[in-house]
Amino acid sequence: MSVITLEAVSKEYDAGPRSKIKLPPAVHDINLKINQGEFVFVLGSSGAGKSTLLHLMAGDFVPTKGRVLLNGIDLAKIPERKRPLIRQRYGLVWQDPKLIEDRTIYENIAISMRAAGMRRKEIREAVPKALGIVGLRRTLDSFPHEISGGERMRVELARAIANSPDILIVDEPTANLDNDTAWDMVQLFQEINRRGTTIIMATHARSIVNILRKRVITLADGKIIGDVENGRYGYISHRFSRVSAHTKLFRK
Ligand code: ADP
Repeated sequence: MSVITLEAVSKEYDAGPRSKIKLPPAVHDINLKINQGEFVFVLGSSGAGKSTLLHLMAGDFVPTKGRVLLNGIDLAKIPERKRPLIRQRYGLVWQDPKLIEDRTIYENIAISMRAAGMRRKEIREAVPKALGIVGLRRTLDSFPHEISGGERMRVELARAIANSPDILIVDEPTANLDNDTAWDMVQLFQEINRRGTTIIMATHARSIVNILRKRVITLADGKIIGDVENGRYGYISHRFSRVSAHTKLFRK
């Protein structure tokens, strides 16, 4: 069974209370199934709808139309008291790690885990373990300003995996990293995926997509225009059109 299913999902943002403009949907009529254990890239130009799609899959946004299902359960219908349990199933890695500067790395991760309803004992065990996986156990007692930008990203990843989530949703994790650091991150994602975690990652990193050859979902104007196994950056397979097998999409 698929872990995440989108059924005819659209999301329209509000243009603001005084605006008469109706914004076009940021994502439009998306149907999608993601299986447990998959590694999926989400590609598309800036504004294509990648972040909106990730937030919908994470249950952060309620769709304007359609349904987002987690293991067959409609995320919009989950009662408030059960939300923390749902949150624990997700690890979220957004682009700019938001670390609290006057708290240690341990505390930064522990605070998020507490907010997700994890118990003290679980937190004490999980934080060093998660930091160990990303190679930063030594930073437990460090403060954010004492570590580098690449290490901050790894702390963000440690925070996301500390709850042992089933699904890791990642938005442009390598955007602000140098090449070597980006590859270190990618190795970590692969390792985490090998342990069974489903990974859904929006990215512009052409070389990473081309080398990993995972499933590639391509968005344009809020619609899925390509969905291929073993995909490459810039090539979409026309499931929806009979024109050609592969079409070049992004040009540098
Ligand atoms: P991407 O991640 O591919 O750059 P986004 O999902 O951020 O795309 O944005 C998709 C569309 O939705 C864009 O046209 C963007 O301007 C619009 N959008 C995103 N966030 C908001 C918002 N909070 N309010 C209004 N429009 C938004």
